[in-house]
Formats: sequence, C-alpha cells, structure tokens
Amino acid sequence: MKKVVLFGECMIELKQTGNSNTVPVQMQQGFAGDVFNAAVYLTRCFNDIDIQLFTALGRDDYSNNMKDYLKAENVGTDLILTSEDKIPGLYSIQTDSSGERSFTYWRNDAAARYTMELLTDDIIEKLKQSDMFVFSGISLAVIKPELRERFWQLIAQLKQAGVEIVFDPNYRPRLWADTTETKTQYELALQASDYVLPGIEDFEVLYGLSTFEDVADFCKPYNIQELVIKDGPNGVLIIQQQSSEKNDNQPTQQFINIEPVKTVIDTTSAGDSFNGVYLGARLSDLTVEQAVSKAAKTAGFVIQHPGAIVEKSIFHQFTKT
Ligand code: ADP
Repeated sequence: MKKVVLFGECMIELKQTGNSNTVPVQMQQGFAGDVFNAAVYLTRCFNDIDIQLFTALGRDDYSNNMKDYLKAENVGTDLILTSEDKIPGLYSIQTDSSGERSFTYWRNDAAARYTMELLTDDIIEKLKQSDMFVFSGISLAVIKPELRERFWQLIAQLKQAGVEIVFDPNYRPRLWADTTETKTQYELALQASDYVLPGIEDFEVLYGLSTFEDVADFCKPYNIQELVIKDGPNGVLIIQQQSSEKNDNQPTQQFINIEPVKTVIDTTSAGDSFNGVYLGARLSDLTVEQAVSKAAKTAGFVIQHPGAIVEKSIFHQFTKT
C-alpha cells in the first residue's frame, strides 16, 4: 500500500451559524487546515492509500476530539506527536450583515509549531517509509523559526531515503515576519521538491508573477519533476521532467482547460482538494490528464458547497456520479 504523509497544522474552527446582529454570536465547532483538507479529499477518493497527518497536538479534549475526527475521515494519527503543555490553534469565521466573511486566528503558540522539537528517531524511521511527504507554505510558516533547520535536515533525510517531496506554496503573508524570510524558505522548498503545485495568485503576491509562463520560467532553475500551476477556472499547466532514459532532456508541457463553475459558493479548499486528489491519482498511476480531470472535478464540486470539508454523505453522492 502506498503511503502519503502530510505535514502541517489542523486547527479548531469556529464558524458563525446564527444572525450576525445577535450577541453573543452562535458558532459551530469543526476542524480544518490546508494539508488536513487535502488529506481528507485524497482518502475520500483513493481508499487504498495510507494517509497520515504529521503534526503535534496537546493532551486536551479538543486534541482528542480532533484525532477521533481524523480517524473517522480515514486520516491516520500514527504520526501525531503530543506536546505536554501546548494546545491546538483556533480560528473563527464570522459573516457580517452584507455576507462578507472575516477570519480571526489564535495560533501563535499552537502545538503544531513545535512538531520539530518533538521529533524522535522512531518517527523519522516511520516517515522514511512513506512514498510522499507533502507540506505547504502554511506548514513552513508555522514552524518556529528556530526549528526550521531541523525541518530541512528531516527533508534531506527523507530525500535520501527515496521519499518524494511535495510542496504547495500557499502563501499567507500574515504568518511571516517579512517577505525576505518567506523567500528564503521557499527557495529551500523549491530546491528540495519533486512536485510543486502553486496557484498563480500566491506567486503574484510574493514575486509579482502573473501568468502561467512567468511561474514556469521562475521555476525553471529548480529540479522539479512535476510542476502543476493552478489558476482558478483558467486552466492548469503541467511541466514534467523527462525520465533520464530519454535523450533530449526537454521537459514536456501540457495545458489543460477547466470547466468554470457557474455558481461558486465558497472557494475555501479549492486548491487543497485539487492537490489531494491530484496526488492520489498520480500515486495510483493515473496519467497527468486523468489526474487533472479528477482533481478539477472534485475542486469544482467543493466550491459549490460552504466550508472546507463537504459533508461526507453529500460528497459520496458526488463520487458515485
Ligand atoms: P489555489 O487555492 O491553489 O490558489 P485555485 O484557486 O487556482 O487554487 O483553484 C484550484 C483548483 O480549483 C483549480 O485548478 C480548479 O480546478 C478549481 N477551481 C477554482 N475555481 C474554480 C472555478 N471558478 N470554476 C471551476 N473550477 C475552479
């Protein structure tokens, strides 16, 4: 069985349910986080792949409930480390009377930020046994800066063991001290990764790159085996390195159109669901075209529903079609 490890933070989510004018506001509690969202859609679409979330939680009830929730979604908890004195991060989504959503975060000292401090040799050995190790710009941002060197050592160890490294840049400016820090870390990520799945918007804000060609040129100096550039409904560009047996060494390039969704309800998790399904498809030996088609159909469905994770029963109806 193939094994995918996704590294990052899963947070407690509080989502407003009632009227915005009522105080106190009514909230519904859930769980979400970018790599966690990708993990859920990956396992929902490919149930013969072992999916593990690699993070740290605490000993509190929220942490325990989160683990139960992960298990119910078939996301493995074998690589969840336990902090003795930290708890998970939290965020809230509030909607004002005009329907505008705002996000507030309490995550500065979340357990996930200390994952690298809790790493043991036993866990490293388990990580080395995976086929893919997935992380994002958000996963990188939440690692305590003094622990980042430990993270890059781990990535080097995994590469040496033959694990494929996957990076989704997912840029969130407020998680970084400044853009110099981000660019230094992204440089290391691009150098280390076999698969990179950027959205053009992330690279536009960070590097001023606004087209598929700009992003492809920017990524050229790196040895990326498969570069998957997303741009909402505007299509997907995939650039693959040829295997070393082929002589010409020219990368292959494919542009795949996306059918735009007419009524978008909530784009949260569009990129995450795309990534999860794309990677699951590639690990299941589907072609790039088949992988994009399946990933785009799933992301297109997800954005027609509110929230990051579409209710299981509704999603299963979709996968049957
Ligand atoms: P990211 O969150 O990584 O920036 P995008 O916004 O580019 O991701 O969206 C990821 C994927 O979601 C797209 O490649 C596409 O498949 C799908 N998607 C996003 N917006 C739309 C849309 N309006 N119509 C159809 N598909 C969409």
